[in-house]
Amino acid sequence: MQLRANPVPSFIHSESELQMETLLGKVGRASDYYHGAVNVPVFHTSTVVFPSLKAFQDSEKNSFETLCYGRLGNPTTWAFEAAIAQLEGGYKGIIAPSGLMIITTVLLAFTKAGQHVLIPESVYGGVRRFCENVLSELNISVEFYPNSINSKMKELIRPNTSLIYVETPTSIDFKMTDLPAITRIAKKSNIPVIVDNTWATPLYYQPLRHGADVSIHSATKYILGHSDALLGIAVCNQKTWPIVKKMSYFLGVSVNSDDAFLGLRGIRTLGIRMQRHQSSALKIAKWLQKQPEVARVYYPALQEDTGYRLWKRDFTGASGRFSIQLKKANYDSIASLLNQLQHFSLGFSWGGFESMIVPVHLNSSKKNLLQETTFCLSIGLEDPEDLIEDLAKGLRRLKMR
Ligand SMILES: *Cc1c(COP(=O)(O)O)cnc(C)c1O
Repeated sequence: MQLRANPVPSFIHSESELQMETLLGKVGRASDYYHGAVNVPVFHTSTVVFPSLKAFQDSEKNSFETLCYGRLGNPTTWAFEAAIAQLEGGYKGIIAPSGLMIITTVLLAFTKAGQHVLIPESVYGGVRRFCENVLSELNISVEFYPNSINSKMKELIRPNTSLIYVETPTSIDFKMTDLPAITRIAKKSNIPVIVDNTWATPLYYQPLRHGADVSIHSATKYILGHSDALLGIAVCNQKTWPIVKKMSYFLGVSVNSDDAFLGLRGIRTLGIRMQRHQSSALKIAKWLQKQPEVARVYYPALQEDTGYRLWKRDFTGASGRFSIQLKKANYDSIASLLNQLQHFSLGFSWGGFESMIVPVHLNSSKKNLLQETTFCLSIGLEDPEDLIEDLAKGLRRLKMR
């Protein structure tokens, strides 16, 4: 069979010095390869056929870079990987079918039996579950460190520490981490630092530029932004890419191209969406601070927040997710607050166009969510005044109980 040579584009945009909002529209495209189409097409393929024995053998040598077999990626998934990697100043990206799947892949890539890993106390619940139920069973010692540890991290490092995992800000209590302080310590012992950057998105924070070795996103959240698909990605440097890529290959991690396409589509509007999420969240968080029913707002973009200094120093913006703690409230009053909200829905996940509110416990190890009166809010793209009115009515119901 005769096949025409079909080289794979690099998908890297040549003017990398552009402003972020402009770059969002350029990364991960290759119109010259696809008949001028603005967007990279969706490739549906498992099997790839080769014109000769030689080409078949060559493809095995280069299976991460050329179309070889569907599970190893295709131009749609590569375009998404290249786009996020370029936005974050990384070497290459590695895609996965969910945020949690890329996190577990990365954790397995850097840890062997007998080693020790450092994980933040209020880490995303799925990560804690994996550490406690899978890593521990593999004879890996999991240590949860206090969220605001920063330079004291030095004292926790052991000779067998294989990785430091960071969320900044942390899930639920939104504590900022001094990433440069931690990476300086980690580099002395040659320990990779892995950062979950889901909250800030590639637009507002680039962990690799602050010394991290891998930056992870649940693209399910803001990058896709429409609550209609799951996707994960890790951005690596030159040293960590081969390690994570091989683990992803060994585990058989692969992604549906339709979802990778939605990831690419999401990137195009990320700038304008994040601006709106940020400005509405700031307005609503400031309003909540003034309400007598609210004990505390956890949001590093507020000047009163303990993380404000670090956020201001390292980030270029804030997303629309934060949490609040109410003063005393019992189950019934919380139920009456939540059940009749018009614009905030109760559900898992966040980062979509629609506002969400969920009860959480400040420490992800505790199971009974409603014992404390803390809620995570994800501010959507609705009119912020409508959202404030909804919450104001909710707080009034709280008082009436
Ligand atoms: C949701 C979330 C994840 C997991 O992502 P999925 O795409 O749902 O698997 C990981 N980290 C953080 C901070 C999250 O909020």
